[in-house]
Amino acid sequence: MSYRITVAYGDGIGPEIMEVVLNILEKSGWNFQKDIIELGEKIYKQGHLSGIKAEDRNLIRKNKIFLKAPITTPQGTGFKSLNVKIRKSLGLFANIRPIRSLYPFIDTKFPNMDVVVIRENEEDLYAGIEHRQTPEVFQCLKLISVPGCEKIIRYAFEYAQNMGRKKVTCMVKDNIMKLTDGTFKKMFEDISKEYPQIEKNHWIIDIGMAKFATNPEDFDIILLPNLYGDILSDVSSQLAGSVGIGGSSNIGETHAMFEAIHGSAPRRAGQNLANPSGLLNAATLMLSHIGEQELSEKIQNAWLKTIEEGIHTYDIYKKSLSKQKVSTSDFGKAVIENLGAEPKKITPTFASKKNKKISIHLSYKSLSFQKRVLEGVDIFIFENNRDPLLLAKKLKHIIQELDWNLLYITNRGIKVYPDPLPETFCTDHWRCRFLFTSENCQPSHIINLLEKINLGKLEVIKTENLYSFNGKTAYSQIT
Ligand code: NAD
Repeated sequence: MSYRITVAYGDGIGPEIMEVVLNILEKSGWNFQKDIIELGEKIYKQGHLSGIKAEDRNLIRKNKIFLKAPITTPQGTGFKSLNVKIRKSLGLFANIRPIRSLYPFIDTKFPNMDVVVIRENEEDLYAGIEHRQTPEVFQCLKLISVPGCEKIIRYAFEYAQNMGRKKVTCMVKDNIMKLTDGTFKKMFEDISKEYPQIEKNHWIIDIGMAKFATNPEDFDIILLPNLYGDILSDVSSQLAGSVGIGGSSNIGETHAMFEAIHGSAPRRAGQNLANPSGLLNAATLMLSHIGEQELSEKIQNAWLKTIEEGIHTYDIYKKSLSKQKVSTSDFGKAVIENLGAEPKKITPTFASKKNKKISIHLSYKSLSFQKRVLEGVDIFIFENNRDPLLLAKKLKHIIQELDWNLLYITNRGIKVYPDPLPETFCTDHWRCRFLFTSENCQPSHIINLLEKINLGKLEVIKTENLYSFNGKTAYSQIT
């Protein structure tokens, strides 16, 4: 059977490592055809504001399997991350990053580390919804959904079963983000009960990450929301020896994208220095995904043998352990020479595993029938005067004839009315919490309140409705 995949050479070190990987794939005997597309900065500068041409997006959709080298995303300015856009627009909800130590061939403090980071890939702060709301304050929205949590949590447990893994550890910050991370954790606890044979564990992300950095060998599968997963997977790859060796798959219901976990390393570009292992490992994940397990193992074995022989790129080269420091292209040649051979000492990780396709069936469908009651509104106001009592006085005057009660004012989340502390620093961005004092609060009551605030010469910059669901308050509490 011949496969047709989409390939992007990417930016920075991308073209060098992709050339090596495609060469290895061709020499491995895999029967495939490729559609090569260009992405990123270059395309953006040609006037395609999404960083990709429409016809190339269609090719990715048509071929369904996408092998992508890293691309450069401007920092702090410029176009939105195309990686994130591709992952989200194709519904690639699961980002799988297996990382394993290869000691004593690659130096690491953790010779027995063998983890899989499963990162939620569509939600969280990566929505990229940001606003400058006042001269002083900027906002980024963290969005977590019930189906988004369910998909990735089920995937993690199905993956664990499929791959013979024993434990899934979830890490979130639900002591602070009680609704967003709290939902992720709660659903983790609920869904894990359906998999009694798999051990489950939970850490708050800060201490969890600290434990991982000092004892990565205690972990098996680590399940995280998007941002934490991004950070922890780089840490894990680096702990295993180099960020240059980790590969990843981005899996959706119909499409999949395979890439190295590292970025385009622009400072290393054009020097034939970079380690192509991350992208090569991604390519072997791709072969397993499409059912070409034997070929995947053949390439993995050749790669492991090359590592075992001490043929190393600069990032993993160590005089005492390595035999030869090689370029990107020479590393590729060594892997090709080893195709068909097996490592002597390293046991390949996936050799005995059946890579069954994981299908996710969502069960949290009935949520829209929960009783949702509008209770009030948080109104965000831009006000330069840093005195919360003055703002409260103005607002109280505005609402005196209305069925609204001003309960609290907060500044960057800290209560400053009633009873402000003189030590609390206030910006120009105020959240004012109003609860409706009569029965049956309606959106029109909020609109009326907003009109009155506007007439009172205060500037509203945003509102958030306050709901309860099935009688349970569904907004953060102010204390
Ligand atoms: P990076 O991963 O590109 O590089 C960080 C450092 O890691 C490099 O300086 C280099 O020392 C080392 N390194 C990375 N890959 C290596 C390899 N294959 N071989 C040897 N050493 C390697 O991270 P960065 O510098 O933060 O990001 C550079 C650009 O890449 C940014 O524009 C970023 O947005 C982008 N990026 C893209 C992706 C992607 O396409 N999926 C992922 C992460 C970052």
